[in-house]
Amino acid sequence: ANRQFTYGYRRLSLFGALINGLVLIAGSVWVLTEAIPRLANPVMPVTEGMLALAVLGVAVNGFAAYRLSKGNTLNEKVLNWHLLEDVLGWVAVLVVAIVLQFVDWPILDPLLSIGFTLFILVNVLRNLSTTARLFLQAAPDSKLQNEIQDTLLKIDELDSIHHLHLWSLDGEHHVLTAHVVTNASKAFTANHYADIKLRIANALEQFDLAHTTIELELTQEHCRDEVPDKVQ
Ligand SMILES: [Zn+2]
Ligand SMILES: [Zn+2]
Repeated sequence: ANRQFTYGYRRLSLFGALINGLVLIAGSVWVLTEAIPRLANPVMPVTEGMLALAVLGVAVNGFAAYRLSKGNTLNEKVLNWHLLEDVLGWVAVLVVAIVLQFVDWPILDPLLSIGFTLFILVNVLRNLSTTARLFLQAAPDSKLQNEIQDTLLKIDELDSIHHLHLWSLDGEHHVLTAHVVTNASKAFTANHYADIKLRIANALEQFDLAHTTIELELTQEHCRDEVPDKVQ
């Protein structure tokens, strides 16, 4: 983070995930345009070379996917799908190569390409939709959002919450802002204030949020942001 990019560069990983997704879609469409015409006119592949390549492909991509499988960010997930596609693709090639040693069914070749590409495409689209939602600052997890709200409302001193916004920098690091209302009497002191803030801090600790901004409002106080968010 610096003075201009105060949230750091975590959102770059969303951008990367978007590009990866688009590349994978383009690649999938290309594979489909190659494979679909071959359905009508299947050509018997050279199975010995196919077999040797498939063994090499499974080994190399399997190793890469295994190394990346520990990652949790969205980008790593998309990349991992890409690698998994390669691995499973090579496994499919291997299976087809072995089957074609024994039978003369050249149509297996394009059929497996198409089936597998469609499978990958569905998952890429699902990942892209998650990325798009995070881009638009949707709550990363509505269950988490409700949990945070309920946890805050359990604090005796807090009567209500509004302008609660939960969004995520990259799907992993979340940002929370909220106005919380406390019913303060004239005897409200700095000690009360410190006590409420401590309770809020303790309540939020379990959620491990990256940035939190909580506005403490008194019941009789006019909300600075006035128009409350309409939540359906
Ligand atoms: Zn901050
Ligand atoms: Zn307010």
